[in-house]
Amino acid sequence: MNVLSLFDGISTGRLALDMAGIQVDRYFSSEVEPAPMAVSAKRWPDVEQIGDCRRVKAEDLPRIDLVIGGSPCQGFSRAGRHLNFDDPRSALFFEYARVLAEVRAINPAARFLLENVAMKKEWEAVITETLGVSPIHINSAKVSAQNRQRVYWTNIPGVKQPPERNIKLADVIDRSVNTAQYVAGGGILFDPTIPERARALVTKDGDKVRIRQATKAGYIVAEDGDGVNLAFPTSTTRRGRVIKGKSNALDCSCEACIFYDGIIRHFTITELERLQTLPDGYTEGITQTERKTAIGNGWTAEVIAWIFGFLKEETQ
Ligand code: SAH
Repeated sequence: MNVLSLFDGISTGRLALDMAGIQVDRYFSSEVEPAPMAVSAKRWPDVEQIGDCRRVKAEDLPRIDLVIGGSPCQGFSRAGRHLNFDDPRSALFFEYARVLAEVRAINPAARFLLENVAMKKEWEAVITETLGVSPIHINSAKVSAQNRQRVYWTNIPGVKQPPERNIKLADVIDRSVNTAQYVAGGGILFDPTIPERARALVTKDGDKVRIRQATKAGYIVAEDGDGVNLAFPTSTTRRGRVIKGKSNALDCSCEACIFYDGIIRHFTITELERLQTLPDGYTEGITQTERKTAIGNGWTAEVIAWIFGFLKEETQ
């Protein structure tokens, strides 16, 4: 099978094909950022890097059987500026659509997968109309310890929801973390990269913690092994947030934290990789900040491998 991966990032698509047991002949990676490209090159020496998707033409490539990609989401994202298809980054979706149309003109049987964040219904409808298939919404929480709702459009037949695997944060914790530099506050230990004003939202309550937030109760309770997000400490509508046994969706700044054993801290890189079901050390070789960005931008490998499992069924 020949694969064309647009917005390839750290080649999670290549990893997921491997996980699904699909034989890859050639894998073309369109990506522009040097850091994720370095990860891809290190992990997958067989991947062929072809640069900016705006210059990709199907006629320059061998016959492609599968086109995959998650176009940059900032233009759509709730966390972003709520711009529409006029946002140059959202416009990259139309590059995906163009390349896919070119591939299908050569190989009408080509399969595709497009991933994006949950977005306004009108925008989702534009993508659905352009691609001609209805999306399936899958939360990575089914197959990982991360809450990550994403939308997938594919013409791979029969894709269903993955079964709940009951993976909790407790299953991915890196127990070797050195807490020597941690700061105490209200009976809790904090990783010092959590700002003072964020720490001030938290008070101990037995073996639980209360996190102040703008609800009627005035706080939300986190128990051992819960994910907490202390970002936006100055917002009047949103303060600390808690997710039972899971992390919040990772983003490129990876601000999500965990509460366990009386500690609140950011995730380690190893934990971030585990939250995306990447092998430990998958993103080694670039800076810490680049690794966080690449992981937060990336796919949850097990979700993609699950979807590719239906492709494997079809081709067997
Ligand atoms: N699914 C990928 C990550 C996608 S994030 C993974 O699992 O790793 C979107 C990616 O699109 C980013 O890495 C960004 O660098 C890349 N990108 C942005 N503009 C691009 C362009 N013009 N051509 C190709 N890739 C681009």
